[in-house]
Amino acid sequence: MSLAIFGGNPVREKSFPSYCQISDEEINAVTRVLREGCLSKFIGKGHPDFFGGEQVQLLEKNWSRKFRVEYSISMNSATSALYAAVGAIDIVPGDEVIVSPFTMSATASSVLIYGGTPVFADIDPNTFCITHETIESKLSEKTKAIIVVNLFGQCAELSKIMNLAKKYNLKVIEDCAQSPGAQHDHKYAGTYADIGVFSLNCFKTIQSGEGGIAVTNDRDLAYRLQLIRNHGEVVIHDKEWAVSNMRNLLGFNYRLTEIQAAIANEQLKKLDALNQERIHRVQYLNQLMQSFSFLQMPEVKKKNNHVYYLQAIKFNEKELSCSRDKFLDALAAEGVSMTKGYVEPLYLLPIYHEGKDSQSVFTRHINADVSYERGLCPIAEELHFRSLITNTLIYPPLTNGDLNDIVDAIEKIYKHIDDLR
Ligand SMILES: *Cc1c(COP(=O)(O)O)cnc(C)c1O
Repeated sequence: MSLAIFGGNPVREKSFPSYCQISDEEINAVTRVLREGCLSKFIGKGHPDFFGGEQVQLLEKNWSRKFRVEYSISMNSATSALYAAVGAIDIVPGDEVIVSPFTMSATASSVLIYGGTPVFADIDPNTFCITHETIESKLSEKTKAIIVVNLFGQCAELSKIMNLAKKYNLKVIEDCAQSPGAQHDHKYAGTYADIGVFSLNCFKTIQSGEGGIAVTNDRDLAYRLQLIRNHGEVVIHDKEWAVSNMRNLLGFNYRLTEIQAAIANEQLKKLDALNQERIHRVQYLNQLMQSFSFLQMPEVKKKNNHVYYLQAIKFNEKELSCSRDKFLDALAAEGVSMTKGYVEPLYLLPIYHEGKDSQSVFTRHINADVSYERGLCPIAEELHFRSLITNTLIYPPLTNGDLNDIVDAIEKIYKHIDDLR
């Protein structure tokens, strides 16, 4: 049977089911909120309702208990939570923030929105996260903070990064959008840094359609996050609500609705089970994929437990004498779509190339000596453009039968690789 890309029958005709773990618990919770009629209780003034309604506050309490952290502040997205976090740690124009180039764009945009300069550090080829070494090589006297991303469900080397931050007196934000429930050295992702940020968007392991949570153990940071979430500028002149450092406390409307919070509350209860479902599927696939010597499963670091938002696979084009992209095109034709790389390293995005004379309110403050040229982070570039494959087909309700189709499609291409070369 010939390869589907050359007109043969594909291994799989049916599309894979999509990921949606919404059931009666969420439906009933939403119905209760709708019946009671209070869809949001926030008000933007010095008043107890400044902190949100019953469901929002319950979600925050449950989140704090689950992740063993003092304060949880819900927002309407992780993007909002990242923006608020950068405001809360008080980044101002001229400040440099070291960040991963291998992440969703908002991780670095959060620096631009406050006029800071994102400085991109390269990633570890196995964890795909920035490391204390790559961070250290990017330090300058203008460095104020680090945003570390615990990518694909695995933690960065958080203890080492926190030690480095302490040594140089830097603030740290952890982007845990892809790693709720992941641990490093028996402690949850998101709880190492000054502020950790989670996402509840519909693609993430647990969701409320849209939503985000920032966590911290610092009371002042918690309050600053709450002020930025909800029009803080109108309340901080009240004596009772006063803060000493008012910089960056212009507020937005980053509030989560009661409906979203009610959904998130139910989803949070399912987090551990849903992570386990992904772990099982990746273990099953890894075991079967072992027989393909041109595919390598990246190592999981010793102190980490990985919760697999994605399955990362490294493709050895020399071993197969075939490019990754050709291979993935053939795989897609067989009915199994995987992603070529992950994202273009962020410094290649047009926003970072507007030029020093740009009047853009977001990029005009970028420090002149910082580079965004191609070649800046060779490991991230090599992974994205040549050797990394990301596979999202690891979620419930995919069955072993579905996973076998994935492996069968790879097997078929391998057997016919001469046709593809
Ligand atoms: C999804 C994601 C975000 C943004 O989350 P939203 O809730 O959609 O704003 C940020 N960072 C990473 C690493 C993500 O995967």
